Amino acid sequence: MIVVLTGAPGAGKGTQADLIAEKLGYKKISTGDALRRQIQIGSDIGKQAQSIMAEGRLVPDSVLLGILKSELDAAGSKPVLLDGYPRNLAQAKALQDLVGTGLIKAAVHLDVDYQSLANRITGRRTCVQCGASYHVANSPARVEGVCDKCGGSLIQRPDDDAEKVKTRLQIYENDTRPILDFYRDLGLYHRVDGNSPAPKVFAELSGLLQSLGT
Ligand SMILES: [Zn+2]
Repeated sequence: MIVVLTGAPGAGKGTQADLIAEKLGYKKISTGDALRRQIQIGSDIGKQAQSIMAEGRLVPDSVLLGILKSELDAAGSKPVLLDGYPRNLAQAKALQDLVGTGLIKAAVHLDVDYQSLANRITGRRTCVQCGASYHVANSPARVEGVCDKCGGSLIQRPDDDAEKVKTRLQIYENDTRPILDFYRDLGLYHRVDGNSPAPKVFAELSGLLQSLGT
């Protein structure tokens, strides 16, 4: 059984996916993490991906799909939560072809207002030393610019500045949003309001997943 968790950058997919894995016993599969792991263990597909990335090229969908397949096989009978995949219509169709109908139980859209997404992302700060994360408004450090845990400096990731965030959200609108209609047509679409604080969003999500009989 597979549940697809989808949403714009900054919608809180990662946080919710971790909660679902921890509290509801799902195996969380993120293709990014899976890719790094395959490279680390030096599997055939990991080596293939590595040589493509070494040439500065993007890992093609066919390779990502292969990695996804091996992760799905490894999940056995555990329910699976897909975090951040599919990212576009081609990937959604390829996934459907890979697993067949019936196995995907739901595509859950974590829906957050555009302005909140932008604020969440541009406010993120990360410690250069220990990697701890903060948010200037939602979870600020005690001393501005200084990590509470280790005293390291807090920086904004280059990807998170206002201009780049605009581009990332635009790419989401163009490439990823069309998968919502794809899943709607299959009768698998569910929306969860992602504007609330994380615990409240999780309560709604877990209620939904339980109502699906998962
Ligand atoms: Zn730190």
